[in-house]
Amino acid sequence: MESGTAARGTETNGASTAAVDSIEVHNPATGGLIKSIPIDSPETVAATVARVRANQPEWEAMGIEGRYHWLGKLRDWLLDNQERVLDTMQEETGKVRADAGNEPAYLADLINFYGTRAAKFIGEESIRPHTPLLAGKKLRVQYRPHQVVGIISPWNFPLILALGDAVPALQAGAAVVIKPSEFTPLGLAEVVEAWKREIGGPDVFDCVQGVGETGGALVDAVDFIQFTGSDRTGRKVMARAAETLTPVSLELGGKDPMIVLADADLDRAANAAAWGGMMNSGQICMSVERIYVEEPAYDEFVAKLAKEVGALRQGADGRSPEKDVGAMTSPNQTAIVEGQVNEALAAGARALTGGKKVEGPGDYFEPTVLVDVDHSMKVMRDETFGPVVGVMKVRDAEEAIRLANDTPYGLSGSVFGERERAEQVARRVECGAINVNDVLVNYFASDVPMGGWKESGIGYRHGEPGIKKFCRTESIVITRFAGKREPTWYPYTRARRGLVGRIAQAFNARDFKRRLGRRG
Ligand code: NAD
Repeated sequence: MESGTAARGTETNGASTAAVDSIEVHNPATGGLIKSIPIDSPETVAATVARVRANQPEWEAMGIEGRYHWLGKLRDWLLDNQERVLDTMQEETGKVRADAGNEPAYLADLINFYGTRAAKFIGEESIRPHTPLLAGKKLRVQYRPHQVVGIISPWNFPLILALGDAVPALQAGAAVVIKPSEFTPLGLAEVVEAWKREIGGPDVFDCVQGVGETGGALVDAVDFIQFTGSDRTGRKVMARAAETLTPVSLELGGKDPMIVLADADLDRAANAAAWGGMMNSGQICMSVERIYVEEPAYDEFVAKLAKEVGALRQGADGRSPEKDVGAMTSPNQTAIVEGQVNEALAAGARALTGGKKVEGPGDYFEPTVLVDVDHSMKVMRDETFGPVVGVMKVRDAEEAIRLANDTPYGLSGSVFGERERAEQVARRVECGAINVNDVLVNYFASDVPMGGWKESGIGYRHGEPGIKKFCRTESIVITRFAGKREPTWYPYTRARRGLVGRIAQAFNARDFKRRLGRRG
């Protein structure tokens, strides 16, 4: 049985066909069934959205501090109940403990980040008019939340990629309904249940369960959609949202490059490549998937990388972190990874370590380093989303940059080398976020925005844009001094229009002659 299977006549992974009523959630580390959960009908989705919508004005009226109070309770709950949440998440994803452990820590930090900065990011702004003609006006901008934000999330980080957007949306004053992935619905449901029953939070936060059809129903019902998932589904979500003119933010796939310059610390670069490529079994949108190494450093780098990856311990661990690389969460993804690796091997690539699916119980793919690869192979072009990196030797930094940018994606990347030179190279890689002498770390720097270029997405997460996107801008122009009528109003007479024209000319012209109404 596959994880995330919708019972009674549907395909897996969101592609629903006939009417179904439940999802079977499996443990990818063992293949065993964890439990079946009911699928919410489109009517239930609409009713859930309507319910939280009715409560949203009161939530908004609480103000930034009032909402932080409640989100702070969620932070405390996550910290106090980590072990319990990690147990559930580990079971449904097949992650190793260390990888699962990042999720509550990231979320607690994010709650504090937005709680303490929301006033700066979305507080009312007072704007000075750009022209003396508006000197009698007060200009203000207020940021009002979209009433209900719908979040559709994937399976690779079930909490981070759902709650990581729910936190700024709730902090902004929106109500939130999440549809988690059908492969990993349990951990998120546990947190939502805790918000309702244990924390006693306001009724502005809920989740609905199901496959693609449920996601579509959510798109129809809400005022803003935050989608994280594949670019294939992202296009469908955007098309569906167009029908109701619902704004979207899309965080999609990636094919992140790493560039290793000849003057890099090769131990650090190889260790970073191993962690950045294999962490969470490579099931990260920002995983290191392709590596370009300047010729003089190639042999040494590849040897170090193969040794580091070859030594990784794969399998399931419990509460104590004893393994490095866990299971593949979605069987569909394992088939994609296997297909790409086999195609590359058949076309002349070599696996220095790994290269195949692991036999036996559970769904595992060996941590794999491929060399003798090129851009005619899918493994260097398409998103792999598995524990596989391809390494290419390049003549120089110019060739590395050209190859790094030879992709429809543009999510993130990394450059290793002497700091100044690496920084210069990093600035020329076409993507939304790039790390110099580190990998993946930009995701934990909530201070700076991150979003995909090209087919990696639309919109930003983190920083000011990460909360502002959940708001609508309302500009308020307030008249301070007023007579009975303005010179621009009726009645139009030659004298009044002449006066208006002369004043406009005087302020708009940038030279003395024109200010006096003459031609230049
Ligand atoms: P997916 O696109 O298959 O599914 C994502 C979500 O969309 C699931 O909840 C699914 O049920 C739902 N869905 C499916 N069809 C739908 C439809 N027609 N309408 C509405 N919702 C629908 O993605 P996945 O396999 O769960 O996740 C892996 C993908 O996510 C990878 O491509 C990865 O790169 C991407 N991802 C991106 C980021 C990022 O921040 N850019 C982060 C993590 C993962």
